Amino acid sequence: MTTACVVGGGPNGLAAAALLARAGLRVTLLEAADETGGGTRSDEALLPGLLHDHCSAVHPLAVTSPALRALDLERHGLRWRSADVDCVHPLDDGTAGVLLRSVEETARLLGPDGDRYRALLAPSVRHWDALAQDTMGPLLRVPAHPWLLARFGLPTVLPARALARLFGTPQARALWGGVAAHAYRPLSGLFTSAIGLGILTAGHAAGWAVAEGGSRSITRAMENALRENGGTVHTGVRVTDHRQIPPADVTLLDLDPHQAARIYGDRLPARVRRAYGRFRRGPGAFKVDLAVEGGVPWTSEPARRAGTVHLGGTFAEIARTEREVSAGRMPERPFVLVGQQYLADPSRSVGDVHPVWTYAHVPHGYDEDATEAVLRQLERFAPGVRERVVGLRATRPADFAAANPNFAGGDILTGAKTAPQLLFGPRFALDPYSTGVPGVFLCSAATPPGPGAHGMCGAGAAASALRHLGIPADTALGPRPERLAG
Ligand SMILES: Cc1cc2nc3c(=O)[nH]c(=O)nc-3n(C[C@H](O)[C@H](O)[C@H](O)COP(=O)(O)OP(=O)(O)OC[C@H]3O[C@@H](n4cnc5c(N)ncnc54)[C@H](O)[C@@H]3O)c2cc1C
Repeated sequence: MTTACVVGGGPNGLAAAALLARAGLRVTLLEAADETGGGTRSDEALLPGLLHDHCSAVHPLAVTSPALRALDLERHGLRWRSADVDCVHPLDDGTAGVLLRSVEETARLLGPDGDRYRALLAPSVRHWDALAQDTMGPLLRVPAHPWLLARFGLPTVLPARALARLFGTPQARALWGGVAAHAYRPLSGLFTSAIGLGILTAGHAAGWAVAEGGSRSITRAMENALRENGGTVHTGVRVTDHRQIPPADVTLLDLDPHQAARIYGDRLPARVRRAYGRFRRGPGAFKVDLAVEGGVPWTSEPARRAGTVHLGGTFAEIARTEREVSAGRMPERPFVLVGQQYLADPSRSVGDVHPVWTYAHVPHGYDEDATEAVLRQLERFAPGVRERVVGLRATRPADFAAANPNFAGGDILTGAKTAPQLLFGPRFALDPYSTGVPGVFLCSAATPPGPGAHGMCGAGAAASALRHLGIPADTALGPRPERLAG
C-alpha cells in the first residue's frame, strides 16, 4: 500500500493527512504535543467548563474551505455558529463601524460610505464559492475563473491605506483598518489589502463563524476523518532529524521553513536551503484570556452582540501602531482583537461568567508584559471591565514559540505576510509545497494560501504529493475517490 507520513498535526497537517488517507494512502501522523490541533485547540484553564480557544477563534475562511467540505466534517460533529453581529470597531466618541453578515445591511449602516462598500464587495461575495477555488491555493496556476479572480484581485494589490481613501466616515475607515490589520504589516505596503479583502468577502459569504464546543471541534473532526480512513496518530513525538521520520512514499511537513531546513539539513537542495533560511518572520501576539462576570460592558451597543471586536481607534491610529510593531517598537496603545465566541456558542460560559479571548499585536519576540496595555484598551471602550474580570491568563510570544516552533517569536501567521511571501510562500517555485527533496512537501501556513484553520495549505500539499505519486492532483478535493493508491 502507498504510504504517507505527516509531521505536525495542526489544521494543515491534519487536513493533508485526512485527505491522503481518503485517497487510499496509509497515513501516519507524528505530533510533538500531547494532543493534535496545533493553533486550533481549546481548553478550560481558568475555570472548569469555561472554554477558551488557544489560538484560532473565528473562522470565515474555514466555513467555505474546499478542504473542510471535502472531509465532510459536519459528519464528524463540527457545527458552525455565528453571533448576531460579526465584527464591531468602536471609536472613542461611542460610535462604531459595524460589520454584519449581509453586505446590504452593512452598507446601510455605513451611511454615506455604503454604496462604495457594496460596490467593492458585493460582486465577489456573490461568487465566493467559485473564487475560493482560485484564491485558496497557489497563485502560479491556470485559474478556473479568470475574470472573477481579476475582479477580486485588482484591489488586493493596493496598500490598505489607499483603499481606506474610498471611505469618508471615520467609522468605515476604522472598520476597514481593523480588518486590514490582520495582515500584521504596515498598512502602506503593496498587497496589504489582500488579507482584509479575503476575510471580508468570505465573512459576508459564510459568516465570522466559531465552532460549537470550541475551535478544538474543528481539528478533532479532522482527526476523526483521518482515523476513519485508517490513519494513525502518534503524539509526543518531536521530530528534530529526518532520520526519525518513518520511511514513506511521501512525507508532508506541517512546519515552518526554518524547522524544515534544520530537520533536512544538507538533503535540501542548496537553493531551497537558502530560500528557507531567508524566510522572514512576522511580529508577535501577546494573548490575554479573561473570565468576565456579566460580559464586557462595551459603550457601543452593537459590540455587546459582536463575536469579534477590534480595538485600535481610528484608521490613522491603527496604521501608526502597525508600523511601530513591524519596526520592533511596542506602541502604548496596541491593536487588540477581542473574541466573544460565547455569544454564538453559549455552551462555553459557566453561569454568568464568560470566556473573553484577546490578543495584542506586539513586536516579534516581545519579552515584556503587555497585559496592562490590553486591559487599558478594553477599559478605553468598556469602562468598568476590570472590576468584572474574575480570572486571567497571559500567553507571551515566548510561550507561543515554546509550545509550537511554527509560532517563533509569537509570529502566529507562520511568516511575515510581505508581498512575496504572501503570494508565493517560502520560495518562488511552480510548486510552492515542494521542498526539492523528492516526495517531501511543506504543508504549513507558511505555504499558500497562508494562515488560518482552513486546511487549504494541507490540501495544496496533498495535491502535490498525489501528483508526485502519479495520481491526479484533483483527487485530493474531488468526490470521495475509490481506493486509488494500490
Ligand atoms: C493567538 C492566535 C489567534 C489566531 N486567530 C485565528 C483566527 O481567529 N482564525 C484563524 O483562522 N486562524 C487564527 N490563527 C492562526 C491559525 O491558528 C494558524 O494559521 C493555523 O493553526 C496554522 O495551522 P498549521 O497546521 O499550518 O500549523 P500549526 O497550527 O502551527 O500546527 C503545527 C503543528 O505541528 C506541531 N509541530 C511543530 N514542530 C514539530 C516537530 N518538530 N515535530 C512534530 N510536531 C511538530 C505543533 O505542535 C503543531 O501541533 C490564530 C493563531 C493564534 C496563535
